[in-house]
Amino acid sequence: MEEVLIVGAGFAGATTARCLADAGHPVRVIDRRPHLAGNAFDLPDAAGVLIHQYGPHIFHTNSEKVFTWLSRFTAWRDYEHRVLAQVDGQLLPIPINRTTINRLYGLDLDEAGVTAFLEKVREPREPLKTSEDVVLNSVGRDLCDKFFRGYTRKQWGLDLSELSAGVAARIPTRSNDDDRYFTDRFQAMPQDGYTRMFERMLDHPRIRVELGIDFEALRDTAPRRFTVYTGPIDAYFGHRFGPLPYRSLRFEHEHLPATAQVQTVGTVNFPNQHAYTRITEFKHLTGQAHPGTSVVREYPCADGDPYYPIPRPDNEALFKRYEALAEVEPDVHFIGRLAQYRYYNMDQVVAAALSLAERLAGLYPAPSAP
Ligand code: FAD
Ligand code: UDP
Repeated sequence: MEEVLIVGAGFAGATTARCLADAGHPVRVIDRRPHLAGNAFDLPDAAGVLIHQYGPHIFHTNSEKVFTWLSRFTAWRDYEHRVLAQVDGQLLPIPINRTTINRLYGLDLDEAGVTAFLEKVREPREPLKTSEDVVLNSVGRDLCDKFFRGYTRKQWGLDLSELSAGVAARIPTRSNDDDRYFTDRFQAMPQDGYTRMFERMLDHPRIRVELGIDFEALRDTAPRRFTVYTGPIDAYFGHRFGPLPYRSLRFEHEHLPATAQVQTVGTVNFPNQHAYTRITEFKHLTGQAHPGTSVVREYPCADGDPYYPIPRPDNEALFKRYEALAEVEPDVHFIGRLAQYRYYNMDQVVAAALSLAERLAGLYPAPSAP
C-alpha cells in the first residue's frame, strides 16, 4: 500500500501527517534537519534551560478549532507575552500604549487624552499600501522613527516604505494600558515544550518519520500516493524563475549561570541600537525554575536558512508564478510558511494544514478504514 510522502516535520507537515494517519493513510514524514518541529524546535541547552533553537516562539490564536486540535498533544501553561522597546534611554511598552506615550513625552494623559494625542500626531494615509503608510497613519513620524523605522531596516534590510502593509500591521496601537504583545483568546505555551508536542503528534502506528533526509535525495525514487511539500516553493521548482527572497537570522544563544533573571519581560526590542533586533529570555516563556537563565539575540541577515518570506509586491508577484506551477503539479500539495510564501504564525499554519487535510481526505480515499 503506497504511503503519503510529507516533506517537512514542522507545523504544516506534522499537522497534515497526523490528520491523514488518523484518517487511515500510511504516512512517511521526512525532514532534512535532524529534529522534529521545524522552526518551533526546542531543547534543553547545556545548562538544562529549555530554549528555542530558532528564536522565540509564543503560541497565540483566536481559533478554538486550532487550540482544541493541538490540545490533543499537549497540556498548556498560560502565558501572555510582553515586550519592552529600548527607546531614548527608556524601556517602553511595545505595542505603543498609554504608558509608552506618557513616559516618552513626560505626559500624564488619560485614555481619551492619548487618543487625542495620536489623532494630532498621526499622518492620515489612504490607501494603506506600505508598512510606512500603516505606521504613519496610526502614530505619525516621531513614533514611527523611534519604534519602527530602525527595527524594520535591521530586520528586513529594507525601509518601511518597501514592505507591504501587512508587516507593520501585525503591531497594533493602543490608547489604554494593555501591555500584552498579543490579545488573542488563547495564549499559552505547550507545557513540556514544542518538541514534545510534535513527538506526540507524530506518534502514530501509521506514521514513520525519517530525519536528516532531503527531499532531493528521493524525489525521483520514493514510491508515494501523493506528496505534501512544506519546504520553500522556489526550491521545489529548481528556482526556475529565480530565487524567492527569504530573510534569515543568526541566533546567538547565551547562558548566564547564577543569574535568576536578566530582564523583566520575555523580550526586549532594540529598534535603534545594536546589530540584533531583540533579546528574549526563555524562562519567562516557559516558567522554568533554574538558578541560571538563557537568552537569545537575533541578528537578521540575507543569507542562511529561510525564516521569513519578505512581503513586498514584486516578491508576491514572483510567488504567484511559482504558485501557478504548484497548482498544476500532479499529486503534490504545497502548504506552510515556506511553500505558501506567507508570513504565517504557527496557528495559521495549523489552520491551513487542517483545511488541506480535509480536502485531501476527499481527493484520496483512505486505503483502509481507520
Ligand atoms: P517550518 O517550521 O519552517 O518547517 C518546514 C520544515 O521543512 C523544516 O523543518 C525544514 O527543515 C523542512 N524542509 C524544507 N525543505 C526540505 C527538503 N527539501 N527536504 C526535507 N525537509 C525540508 N509563530 C508564532 O505563532 N508565534 C511566534 O512567536 C513566532 N515566532 C517566530 C520567531 C522566528 C524567529 C521565526 C523564524 C518564526 C516565528 N514564528 C512564530 C513563525 C513559525 O515559526 C511558523 O509559522 C511555523 O513554524 C511554520 O511552520 P511550517 O511547518 O510551515 O515551516
Ligand atoms: N516592528 C518594529 N518595531 C518593533 C516591533 C516590530 O518596527 O519594536 C515591525 C518590524 O517591521 C517587524 C514587524 O513589525 O518585522 C513585525 O513584528 P513581529 O514582532 O510580529 O515580528 P516577528 O515576531 O514575526 O519577527
